[in-house]
Amino acid sequence: MKKIYKHSAIVFLLIAFSVCLLTPMQGWAAPAKNVILLMTDGTSSTHITLTRWYKGSPLALDDILVGGLRTYSAESIITDSAPAATAFATGHKTNSKFIGILPEKTTVPGVPAIPAADQFKPVASVLEGAKLLGKSVGLIATSQVQHASPAGFSSHTPFRDQYTLIAKQQVYENIDVVFGGGKQYLLPKALGGIRTDETNLLSVLKDRGFSLLESRDELLAFNGRKAWGLFAPEALQFDFDRKDHAPREPSLAEMTGKAIETLSKNEKGFFLFVEASKVDWAAHANDPIGVISDLLAYDKAVQVALDFAKKDGQTLIMAFADHGTGGMAIGSKEFYKIYDKLPYETVLGPLKNALYTGEGMDKVLGEDRSEFNIRVQMMQNYSIDDLTAAEITAIQKAPRKRAFATVIGPMLSKRAAIGWIYTGHTGEDLFLYAFGPNKPSGLIQNTDIAKITARSLGFDLAETDHKLFVDAATAFTSLGATARLDNSDNLNPVLIVEKGLHRALLPIDTNVLSVGKNSYMLPGIVVQIPKSGKVFVPQKAVDLLKEAWW
Ligand SMILES: [Zn+2]
Repeated sequence: MKKIYKHSAIVFLLIAFSVCLLTPMQGWAAPAKNVILLMTDGTSSTHITLTRWYKGSPLALDDILVGGLRTYSAESIITDSAPAATAFATGHKTNSKFIGILPEKTTVPGVPAIPAADQFKPVASVLEGAKLLGKSVGLIATSQVQHASPAGFSSHTPFRDQYTLIAKQQVYENIDVVFGGGKQYLLPKALGGIRTDETNLLSVLKDRGFSLLESRDELLAFNGRKAWGLFAPEALQFDFDRKDHAPREPSLAEMTGKAIETLSKNEKGFFLFVEASKVDWAAHANDPIGVISDLLAYDKAVQVALDFAKKDGQTLIMAFADHGTGGMAIGSKEFYKIYDKLPYETVLGPLKNALYTGEGMDKVLGEDRSEFNIRVQMMQNYSIDDLTAAEITAIQKAPRKRAFATVIGPMLSKRAAIGWIYTGHTGEDLFLYAFGPNKPSGLIQNTDIAKITARSLGFDLAETDHKLFVDAATAFTSLGATARLDNSDNLNPVLIVEKGLHRALLPIDTNVLSVGKNSYMLPGIVVQIPKSGKVFVPQKAVDLLKEAWW
């Protein structure tokens, strides 16, 4: 007896030893109850450094720096936000403009080729996986919530610009908390929106028990468990412009705090994605004050998340950017000769004197583009009193709103010795920040964010794919049924499944299954991929019909 006991102890030790060898990440703790991902779009280390100088004290981020992040996509060493979001959300590198689906072809060395049968196939996100576990889930963005990064966690399409389609998928994903901009994509034209399918997605949300919040006050007073707060028709204002130009909009930190308060009411835990979307937009415009404005707002949101995680002890936080934008440099060609004598004040003085972002200055100037008004406003709000005649003309001819920053930003940059390479994305490695159980360290891939999130919450992404995205044609024909797409209302296509006299309807981009008089809410959405012509449904739809018809 003793001998057998001794023998099994040795076997146990051997097994334990080999498991340790097979485990790629050492020190893997028990599953985390919650995961919060915080992303700042289009942010390199320079953007962070400049923001820290501006603040004049350490950032909340500085305390939790753990390593670096590689960012390339399946087809380029410089990624677009859509494949980056897909990597963070699903663990797969993909191609430009693709949201939550696999690529067609891969060209970057090291990215595996995709078998023909899997090209354009939807893949599950960590938000969808967390939801299947019974956790609450949330999305926050300062752009429209249909924009690439939040879309990567909550929709599936090869076209990132299809905001009305993405909006519909997001509504039917049953996401517990959604805060940001983009209200117009949920409403038909008659109600002030831009939807041409005449669907009122806000009433769908209302019918499903969501509170609809429209202002900062309503957000702060909210005390329920499920809410959509869309505070602008499109993107929210930059943080520096918010108080004067959009006082009804909440800050990123306020949205993050309310989301955590709401989602943490679920005993099973939660997943939350938070994005400072417009740092990228400012960097595209080469506007340093827009970058600083929204990075400071982002850092406050990180602090809110950290305060919760430190108290809670079961929350993993990972913070990162998706790519660099603009190729910002502290130092520019015009100041190059004296770079080692460049005074602090030369850089920080002009930045501190700028009261609004470039986009905000469009509102400050209003309709009056006279030379007098331009000189007065630039003096009062930027302390710039040496505008050249060419600069006055450039401001007068500048495009309005968001694009106005492309004219003001470079004028401020020049005076602050800030250089920019161009107005596109850049492909360097970025900072990685993390805190809490299972936090990564060292240089990791953007796809590792999804893998660590899933593993930390205790689910498998490939298994989640099988539960949520089954090829409808194959699944139903193998059961002796037929599945065809009814496009007679081409804005609201429906998958029709038939067997003998039985018929079931699965409206595309929804999680609804109708069989006769019964209607079911599926655990995921029905997705039609135009590039492959295939329709994917949750396995639950197949199981329900099997039960009903066989
Ligand atoms: Zn961008």
